[in-house]
This record gives sequence, structure tokens and C-alpha cells, in this order.
Amino acid sequence: MKKVLLLNPPGERLYIRDYFCSKVSQADYLTHPVDFVVLSGILAGEYEVGLIDAIAGKLSPESALEEIRRFAPDAVISLFGSVSLPEDLAFAAKVRAACPGARLVGLGDAFRDGGAKYLGPDSPLDALLLDFTTRDIVSYLEGDHGSAANMLIRDGGEVLPPGTRPAAERYEVPVPRHELFSGYDYRHPFVRSRRFATVLTDYGCPFHCSFCVMGTLGFKSRTPASVMTELEHIKSLGIKEVLFHTQTFGARKEEARELCRRMISAGLGLGWTCFSRVDVADPELLSLMREAGCHTVIFGVESGSDEILKKYGKGYTRGQIISAIDHCAAIGIETVGTFILGLPEETHETMERTLDLLRTIKLDYASINVAVPRMGTPLREEAIAHGLVDGDFAVMDQSGAEVAMGSRTLSREEITKYRKRAVAIFYFNPRYILRRLARIRSFYDLTRQLKQAAALAANTWFGEK
Ligand code: SF4
Repeated sequence: MKKVLLLNPPGERLYIRDYFCSKVSQADYLTHPVDFVVLSGILAGEYEVGLIDAIAGKLSPESALEEIRRFAPDAVISLFGSVSLPEDLAFAAKVRAACPGARLVGLGDAFRDGGAKYLGPDSPLDALLLDFTTRDIVSYLEGDHGSAANMLIRDGGEVLPPGTRPAAERYEVPVPRHELFSGYDYRHPFVRSRRFATVLTDYGCPFHCSFCVMGTLGFKSRTPASVMTELEHIKSLGIKEVLFHTQTFGARKEEARELCRRMISAGLGLGWTCFSRVDVADPELLSLMREAGCHTVIFGVESGSDEILKKYGKGYTRGQIISAIDHCAAIGIETVGTFILGLPEETHETMERTLDLLRTIKLDYASINVAVPRMGTPLREEAIAHGLVDGDFAVMDQSGAEVAMGSRTLSREEITKYRKRAVAIFYFNPRYILRRLARIRSFYDLTRQLKQAAALAANTWFGEK
């Protein structure tokens, strides 16, 4: 049986590379690369699948290479992040030298724009995978290039473009091999147990917020039956917590309701966290989610300014945000709001609106990020058009440790200061700290929250370059 290695390459920082995004972990969290979770199931039927996560395993480049040689793969699928691209390309060249006969396939946000240029004659890469939920990778590995529609493939001296298969509305995948990931210390601030599984239901996102890659991937939902088979498998492994990496849980509302009903009637007893939108997670869906085990929802709040929300295509208002968060608090679901500071139209006034929201909103956690002109997004085009970045601009970390760009009226330094104020306003006030302490559920919970606070403080005050 041929051997396929899933490789998250080593890095100088705690990089998170998955699902066509990459960043430096903001607060010491590290989740299972969801691309690899899905691919582990697709590949397992035909190949011996191995995993080396050099980030989670804290492997040096030398140790990672040693492990790769020991596995002796016939093919390597490696993650590449825009945030770490020079390092990733240099390491890929070493993998190529260490395994000259293996095919090397790249996967990641770095290839969303003009991926073909990474398949030149001197590139260590043989192909790029553009959608990790299909069997295209199997077709490619079997030499059937014509059927590998979601790939860019170097064939002799030319690069074959992706095929033109019509987009699917729904999809199913074989049960991922979650056990493959058990040797690594993955962690996430909102899961409530050290052992957890990351699950993808829907792929992509039907919304089109202009700063986000997900709206550019298309959208297809995964059938509730397929998700349930995976959840039953997770339960059989003794895992009790799930992070749904789905970008907007409930985007196809009736399917989300059906999944919740199935989880309830199967008595899975899983606790879970998901991402959703304030205009999607309505009271009826939230009640079903709660009954099915959902304890935390992560919402994209982005800004306290209605003008910013409108300009960047969010499609909802500050009032809708407040009412969804209030409703979650009332029914006992914890909420996390993700914010993006420093979009091109950001001004002192819109920043103050966001700070004002942070003072009063009943969120349990806030993740305060800075705008990043991600590959393939309308925001990138806007930023380039306004001269805020140039086309080769390399700072792609949204954590705020490095601010990617100024807005049209605010400098990078001013955005950095606003971010520090935002973190302080939300987290470092006595009312918030007392509320959090009152909600500590276990020793694990206490240590998790202390680590989070330490990492957040370090990132906010000492991480800036
Ligand atoms: S920000 Fe959220 S809702 Fe908007 S496109 Fe991205 S994933 Fe979808």
C-alpha cells in the first residue's frame, strides 16, 4: 500500500495554517488542521496515511526531516501559509531533497492567488490542491490528472489548470481518522476538555464579507447523515468535545436543525463550539443547538460601527449583534466575538464606536484582530488600490502582533494603540475578571484561562514589532 504523509511543516513561530487561512496563534491555541482531518478520511481507504505536525509537535526542521525520512512517503501533502511562506518554501525544498521520488502537493492560502507561479521548473512542488473535500487528490495520486478538477498540476513543462466540474451543492466524506491526531497537544480556548475533535460540516461560506477568504471558496453543505456518522465515531473514541470548524453553522438552516435533532435523539452527550452569524443563529436554532450540546458560539462582530459593517459586506447591524449576544446569554450559551480593527475605511470615530461596544456588550470573550489583506479577497484589491499595501506585501498575520496596514486615515501605530486599548477595555477590567472567575468549572478550566490571559497579555504588549 502506498504511503501518503500529511505534513504541517516546522516554523519559527506558532503558526496556524489550515482551511486557506494562516496566522500566528494569538493566545497559545492550536487546532487540528481541518484540511488534514478531512483528507485523512478521503485517503485512508486507499493509502497508508501518516501525519507529522511539526508545529504541534514542536519539531525543529532537522527532527521533522528525520521523521519524514523514517516514514518514507510516496507522496507528501504539505500545508503552506502566507504568514510563513519563505520558511515553508525553504522546507519544501529540503523535503524534496530528502524524498526525491515522492510527489509533493501544496495546500494553503499562499496559493489562492496565482498559484501557478509556484509550480515553475525549479519548484519543489508537483501540484497544488485547491479543495480538500473532494477525491481529486486520489485521482491525482493515481495518475488520472484529467479527473483532478480542483488541482493545479505540473505535467512535463506545463501547468494544467483546474478543471471545470460544476460546483456541488452538497457533499459527503468518509469518516476522518481522528485517532491519527491523538499524539499531538492540540488546544483551543473554548473547548472544555483537553481531548477534543475538530469537525467540518459545511465547506466555504455563502456570505461575502469582503475581508474574508471563505466567501471566495464557494459553498456546499455536508449532509447531516454524513456528519452524524463522524460524530458517532468520535464518541466511540471516548472524545466528549467537538469544535465545528464550519464557518457559518446554520447557513442551510433546515439541515442545521436536522443535525441538531439527530444529535439530541442519538443522545451523543457531546459538548461543542461553533462559528455562526448573528443573523443566522435565530432563537429557534440557538435553542436546538443548546439542547444538542452547544455551549459556545463564536460570532464575527468585526466592528461597532454600522458604516464599517455595511461597507465590508457583513449584512447586519450593531443592533442585531447586541440582540443575538443578549439572547445567547439569556439561554446559557457563551459567546465569543471576533473583531477586525483597521479596515481601510476605519477612522477615529468608527474605532471609538467599537470601543464603546466593547464596554457594554455581554460577550464572554473577544478576539481582537487587525485587518489583513488576504490573498484573493476584495479587501486586498481595495488595499492595493488605495496604496495601503503593495502587491507583494508580506505581513499576513491578523493577530495584531504585526499590523499589516494602516487605514485611509489611521497609521499602523494608531491601529496598534487602538488594539491595545480594545483588549484592555474588554479584558482588564475588574467586572469582567470577577465574572470569569465565577464561571471557572474545573482545574483544567482555570489553567486554560490563566494560560490564555498570559498569552494575550504577551501578544498585546510585547508581541509588536
Ligand atoms: S466573515 Fe464569516 S460570514 Fe463573512 S464570509 Fe467569512 S466566514 Fe462567511
